[in-house]
Amino acid sequence: MGLPKTIAIDGTAGSGKSTLGSLLAEALGYLYLDTGVMYRAVTLAVIKAGLSLDDESAIGELARKVRIDVRPPSIDDGRDVDVLLDDEDVTWEIRQDDVNAWVSPVSTQRAVRDAMTEQQRRIAQENNVVMVGRDIGTVVIPDADLKIYLDASLEVRAHRRYQEMLERGETPDFNAVLASLKNRDKIDSNREIAPLKPAEDAYIIDSDNLNICQVFETAKALIYRM
Ligand code: C5P
Repeated sequence: MGLPKTIAIDGTAGSGKSTLGSLLAEALGYLYLDTGVMYRAVTLAVIKAGLSLDDESAIGELARKVRIDVRPPSIDDGRDVDVLLDDEDVTWEIRQDDVNAWVSPVSTQRAVRDAMTEQQRRIAQENNVVMVGRDIGTVVIPDADLKIYLDASLEVRAHRRYQEMLERGETPDFNAVLASLKNRDKIDSNREIAPLKPAEDAYIIDSDNLNICQVFETAKALIYRM
């Protein structure tokens, strides 16, 4: 068998999916799409529009209307990609606390998921891609050539996220970071539509005792063995 053309990586918040995904995409010369940024961008649009979380029809309409672009980084400030919302650079804004708090509730809504899933499927059909998210192997591209599910304990993930924030010059509170990850995992895993769970044919990598190089090597071994 040749190399997998579509690679789905799912997992919990802060499990290192995005880092692994971008490294693999670079190594293979594939398009990299972190679908989390799409849900974050829609959530930012919802906040900016002043919509209430209960207003599912207005949120759905907005999700279908907004234009989200994910492009190679134009600035060397630690970003993996540029994220544009209706042509405005929102790369860092989508990482703020208000978006962290709202993104999982917004992502439970059917109209939001339908709008995002449609765009993601089109991208997967048109490209060799490494796509990262929560439901990529189960719902978006269930026929992906390789599926990886990345996990780590809550404490380890919170430490990693906390460290990243310090490195960006932020002043995070560790307990708040941990509580935010825990809350998002709970909503993402228990929602009715496309809940976070490993696909039956996913390779599960537990990264508690692995650094990113070891996770990358484990994933590469899966790719080149196929
Ligand atoms: O990956 P990241 O943590 O940035 O994702 C932010 C949120 O977007 C997740 O907590 C989840 O609620 C939502 N999401 C989703 N489906 C995806 C990717 C992200 O519901 N495929």
